[in-house]
Amino acid sequence: MTKILNFKQELTGCFGKPVAENPTQAMIEAAYRHHGLDWRYLTIEVDPRDLADAVRGARAMGFVGFNCTIPHKVAVIQHLDGLGESASLMGAVNCVVRRGDKLIGENTDGKGFVASLRTLIDPTGKRVVIFGAGGAARAIGVEVALAGASHITIVNRSRARGEELVHLLRQNVKVASDFVLWEGDYQVPANTDVVINATSIGLFPDVDARLALDVSTLKSSMVVADVIPNPPRTRLVKDATAIGCKVIDGLGMLVNQGVIGVEYWSGIRPDTGVMRKALEDVFG
Ligand code: NDP
Repeated sequence: MTKILNFKQELTGCFGKPVAENPTQAMIEAAYRHHGLDWRYLTIEVDPRDLADAVRGARAMGFVGFNCTIPHKVAVIQHLDGLGESASLMGAVNCVVRRGDKLIGENTDGKGFVASLRTLIDPTGKRVVIFGAGGAARAIGVEVALAGASHITIVNRSRARGEELVHLLRQNVKVASDFVLWEGDYQVPANTDVVINATSIGLFPDVDARLALDVSTLKSSMVVADVIPNPPRTRLVKDATAIGCKVIDGLGMLVNQGVIGVEYWSGIRPDTGVMRKALEDVFG
């Protein structure tokens, strides 16, 4: 089937792997429709060898911007004209924005997380425990630190990755941070304000996978967050809700990074409810 694009429409895109029903595409296009923007958000699979050409193509075709997913988040940087503050600190870009004739790399993952966190608690002066040290943990750690957290504990299975993130937080973001090697059920220190699962544990189809955490050490005063968007009600979310904690699910982060992306591209602050509803429809 021949596909014809109408290049008069403003284009944004996602350089990642297309899936049958791409949740991000559904969410972003719901916002475009709601705000009367005659725009498209396309999901385009780009081979790593073709990334330079893909970025040149996006420039040539006047894309307003695009998202990047794994494996392009770091490699794309060399093809851009500049970086925002957190993308520069993290060394990873998930959102590219055309500003004038320049393509600028931003990172909205952590910003999206902090936006959803702020609906429940002001991160300033708070003590935070993060499980994981991959891309999501890095984005969240940097952004929570920039938002004023007083201390961040990184709990991770592999020492090298965990210590590398702690080093980045201490050296580049100047926040007090410690590494704890994840062995057995982690006991959350009583003075913790925010507990975050930033690992892939619990992601569909492994929905019954358990985070090695002693849930009896969670207190109702703590905010508990999970980055897993599918399913949104993970085992951790259910356990923390039963204890009486305030809880943020993975849709919160996903919606808010989308909100920030649409605002970067269009200048319009989109309706969060419309975007969350579109995601919930995809995830059922
Ligand atoms: P990475 O592969 O970069 O990192 C995965 C992390 O999970 C690592 O710290 C890894 O530990 C840890 N991990 C994985 N399996 C286990 C296990 N069985 N036991 C202990 N630790 C484990 O992935 P990302 O950081 O990019 O993504 C993590 C999750 O965040 C994904 O599920 C993704 O869907 C979600 N995400 C959600 C977003 C949202 O908007 N809601 C945005 C971005 C990501 P180790 O270092 O030891 O391997």
